[in-house]
Amino acid sequence: RDKKVLVDKDGIRRALIRISHEILEKNKGTENLVLIGVRTRGVPLAKRIAANIEKIEGKKIPVGILDITLYRDDLSTIDQQPIVHKTEIDFDVTDKIVVLVDDVLYTGRTIRAAMDAIIDLGRPAAIQLAILVDRGHREFPIRADYVGKNVPTSRKEVIHVCLEETDGKDQVVLQEI
Ligand code: 5GP
Ligand code: MG
Repeated sequence: RDKKVLVDKDGIRRALIRISHEILEKNKGTENLVLIGVRTRGVPLAKRIAANIEKIEGKKIPVGILDITLYRDDLSTIDQQPIVHKTEIDFDVTDKIVVLVDDVLYTGRTIRAAMDAIIDLGRPAAIQLAILVDRGHREFPIRADYVGKNVPTSRKEVIHVCLEETDGKDQVVLQEI
């Protein structure tokens, strides 16, 4: 099937450095800043952003993990429903600026569920969203504050986000299905 490399290793590195700077600029530094990666690939992305921020500002920021999967509820529903599994957030989110990090933003269902899960834990000062690829087709009033690349897609295309940590290689590929 037709495959096209949209972003290479250097492109991913530069996008994450830019996003790291944008996060620091918007929030005027690292005070009260925490990152929460959405499993699977949002986690290595969040860790890379945290490492960039440490290099830039000399400050370590906490990184948590949210595990959310979409599942199709037997035959009774057409829509995929997000299910929140275990979370690894060993800090208090109250009064924090929480930056959610995920690889691809599509309908917005996963991020809506992620926000619910975070709000259940406390009362953040703000929740922001960083995404490597925005592929459009939103079904909720959700948008990302920090975007690596906007990729208008058809519903018949998928984005493959490959990262060293999970896939042994850094690249973003568009594939027709
Ligand atoms: P949404 O909930 O916004 O519809 O979909 C977002 C979730 O599904 C994200 O966690 C994202 O990883 C995954 N997803 C949706 N579309 C794609 C895609 O084209 N490629 C990849 N890699 N993940 C996708
Ligand atoms: Mg995902």
